[in-house]
Amino acid sequence: MRFHFLDIMHRVEPVEVETSVESSPLFANNKAVLSSTPIVAKLKLWPEAGMVVVRGSLTNEVSYTCSRCLESFSESYDIPFDESFFQAVNEPDDDLDHVNAVKEDQIDLTPWLEESFLLALPFIPICKPDCLGLCSECGSNRNLSRCRCSNTRIDPRLMGLADWIDQHPEDQS
Ligand SMILES: [Zn+2]
Ligand SMILES: [Zn+2]
Repeated sequence: MRFHFLDIMHRVEPVEVETSVESSPLFANNKAVLSSTPIVAKLKLWPEAGMVVVRGSLTNEVSYTCSRCLESFSESYDIPFDESFFQAVNEPDDDLDHVNAVKEDQIDLTPWLEESFLLALPFIPICKPDCLGLCSECGSNRNLSRCRCSNTRIDPRLMGLADWIDQHPEDQS
């Protein structure tokens, strides 16, 4: 989605736009993502203090494989978007948060939309915060049934600690 900087700067009323960005290419190397709908961006653009303000929301739905129990689940997103753009001959050394210097008059918002979207996604997808995962002995989904294996059930609140101990066996004494 592109906008003309000078066109928006001369507006009195905000300009409303709705656009969609294909999201599946963003997950080409992410095996935890099964499918992803296009990102629908509903945005308002207006001039303010010599800048173009772009504010709105990004909505989308992503289907994942849970990294603990391997079941598939979907998550809906409604991500706020808020970026401002000003024109500069040279890009400033220290970029302010959400204030972006641009050189050209025609600005492509797609990279900013994609970045805001990706930042809102989980690094490791989990179907629910207390997902118990798979039994390491029989492989059954411990959310669905309590198997009779000898491994003691770990309090989900201590799961992070258990993961840490698994990864640092040399630290146990
Ligand atoms: Zn799970
Ligand atoms: Zn088991």
